[in-house]
Amino acid sequence: MFENSLHYNHPGEGPSVDRSSEYIDSLIIPAHFAIEHAEQVSGRVSNLEQEYYINPYLPTFREGDNFLEDSGNLKQWSHRLVDFYEDIVVSKIQEEGNLRYQDLSRENQRNVVETTVDFQLEILDEHADSTLKRYSLSDAEYDLLPKAVIPWYVKLSTEKDLEYNKQIISDTVEYTDHPVKPCIFMKRRLVTDVNFREGLANYLGDAPINEVFLWIEGLDKRESSRGHYVSTVDLVSRISDQDVAPHFFYGSYFSNLLSIFGLQGTGFGINYSESASEKLKSQDGGGGGASRYYFEPIKEFVGIAEAVQLGEDHTEPCDCRVCRDWMEGWKDIYAVADEQKRLAQHYAAIREKQQDDVEKKSLQDLLEELEERQDTFGEALGESESVATADHLEEWREGVKIYVKKVENCSITEFNP
Ligand SMILES: [Zn+2]
Repeated sequence: MFENSLHYNHPGEGPSVDRSSEYIDSLIIPAHFAIEHAEQVSGRVSNLEQEYYINPYLPTFREGDNFLEDSGNLKQWSHRLVDFYEDIVVSKIQEEGNLRYQDLSRENQRNVVETTVDFQLEILDEHADSTLKRYSLSDAEYDLLPKAVIPWYVKLSTEKDLEYNKQIISDTVEYTDHPVKPCIFMKRRLVTDVNFREGLANYLGDAPINEVFLWIEGLDKRESSRGHYVSTVDLVSRISDQDVAPHFFYGSYFSNLLSIFGLQGTGFGINYSESASEKLKSQDGGGGGASRYYFEPIKEFVGIAEAVQLGEDHTEPCDCRVCRDWMEGWKDIYAVADEQKRLAQHYAAIREKQQDDVEKKSLQDLLEELEERQDTFGEALGESESVATADHLEEWREGVKIYVKKVENCSITEFNP
């Protein structure tokens, strides 16, 4: 089964998570949020009976100052998090301003790696115990454990960085019996290097793991071209051929297409974040702004008025499990424009539906559909003042076609995964 994972990043997203829960398979929760709001997060995860992962926050300390107040002190959540690691992490940050894996002694490397495992296994489970006991919901021992541990990961800028990750993965697997699902976070340009792809896939095939998150930095609709997509299909396919299940940490509809080539899941944000880059500055990732509606025909977010205009001119109202109950015409979206949880619920339901479609239809039909959509909406968007385009539909389609033709050496109609 393809796994849809929702990034649950801060307390304000709780209501959207509740509403989206039935359409998704797991949550990805950043460690700093888990520790700062442990009771709330733990309560929500157990009430929803939702599987989850904890995203270690250590990679954030690698570069930049995203974790500092303007005064230069650690932010409150950073404090709580680094306290968990005792002195090692905090003293390194105080001395050097950052925390880099290679700057730690071998003993401290192991120590931090093991503490990361302990943190993920304990943080929600401990609070689940106390919450449940307090309300006498259960006498049984309650195990609110993550689906798998995500080891500390070091961003790959060069091939050498892979060596650090290998050591971390090996130390993690040695330390815990719990399933381990590493996150391979890489600069986008690396993915276009065939030697890198081959080396990574071979390593993962030999590593003592069965599944892996892949985070290709900035694989977004605006800035990625067909070359990136061809390489990405190839990477996913190579890893899958090694009997390791790849799962995108962030992904758009393109990741659903990739399920044909072996991708087993994708993460995405709440009505947002189909791709992500490393955050380096405190002001990064402010977000907010006007409401956006995920307009399924072009598989992209657009403003509310744009969605109404495009929809009325060209297509039937959304028939996802959420919208079909209340939406009679596109203008109805205006009524929910400020209702984040409803927009989020629509998005989660659509992502589930897109995966169903990919599983039911042939690759040829799926690619033809992208072409039709681009013909219809590309022109309409070109004439509007919208910043959204439909160009990504062509880049995805061409990326897949080129891969199938060049690498698999067959035509789309013959392609049989
Ligand atoms: Zn909908």
